[in-house]
Amino acid sequence: MTTVTRHCLICGSRVLISREEAGGVVVVLGIFAGLARGIRRVARTQSKETSSAKSEAGLPELEVCLAGVNEVSASKDSVASFRDDVIRHHFVGQQYLCLRCGARQNRTN
Ligand SMILES: [Zn+2]
Repeated sequence: MTTVTRHCLICGSRVLISREEAGGVVVVLGIFAGLARGIRRVARTQSKETSSAKSEAGLPELEVCLAGVNEVSASKDSVASFRDDVIRHHFVGQQYLCLRCGARQNRTN
């Protein structure tokens, strides 16, 4: 595997992110956010149901996992829309964004 080092044409930084990489980061963050929402929702429901009689067993792990996965599935269109917005507004048609100086560029050196 060869690694190509990219450098910003303006500041020379090696901290460049491509459109595809940024989209991947947004999707991963969207998945984690969906999991967290689903888990919080189940935890709140369980907390209300067991507020008078605390369950020592805690939350059923499978139910919590399924709620997280369901939330991820339900939010996939909004995550894709958010990803497209990030690419459109941050890259403005360019391929790379320098995370140091903010320059957008189609090629690197
Ligand atoms: Zn730069």
